[in-house]
Amino acid sequence: MTQDRRLIPLSALQHYAFCPRQCALIHNEQAWADNYLTAQGNLLHKRVDSGDPETRNGTKFERAVMVSAEKLGITGKLDLIEKDLKTGALTPVEYKKGKSKPGNWDKIQLCAQGLCLEEMTGQAVAEGYLWYWQTRKREFVAFDKRIRQQTLAVIQQVQTIFLSGELPKPKYEKKCKACSLFDICNPKLIEHDNSATYIKQLFSQD
Ligand code: SF4
Repeated sequence: MTQDRRLIPLSALQHYAFCPRQCALIHNEQAWADNYLTAQGNLLHKRVDSGDPETRNGTKFERAVMVSAEKLGITGKLDLIEKDLKTGALTPVEYKKGKSKPGNWDKIQLCAQGLCLEEMTGQAVAEGYLWYWQTRKREFVAFDKRIRQQTLAVIQQVQTIFLSGELPKPKYEKKCKACSLFDICNPKLIEHDNSATYIKQLFSQD
């Protein structure tokens, strides 16, 4: 990676894995729009961050931990790290507002947290958890070879988007309905590529 690269916020990896255009809009073009989902998420993270460190049943809980891994080129804030006081094992826990998703974007963000902790501490981080507010369920995620490779690939791809300033074209899909940037992105219109042609087509149907 080049010298003048920007450190990638952990959240950008999740944005990219969800939709590369969303990632570029937020992180290159500074576009942001709260919908009820992001508003819920902000509230949840405020609650999570406000907890003090504590120790229970041989595990120490540290909340809102700032991390930065220069070699990987990523930085961010971890909702929670659990430390097993007997083995020293570190386990990141990421809080999410919704429920478990079919896509792997939450897992990629979590795995990046694990990779970040590995670079910072020099010790292996084998697993993490995603905690979903809507279902009140904790999902186990093993940081296996596959998810590690996917995560490293996404880090590389986000770095490329950051350096190029490229804004990928929209692709209208089901997930767009849950996207906080739907109105800014306007995927149905822009997907037609040429709005003048699109408008013409609309009226030629009369
Ligand atoms: S509306 Fe769809 S294409 Fe546009 S940024 Fe969101 S997910 Fe991506």
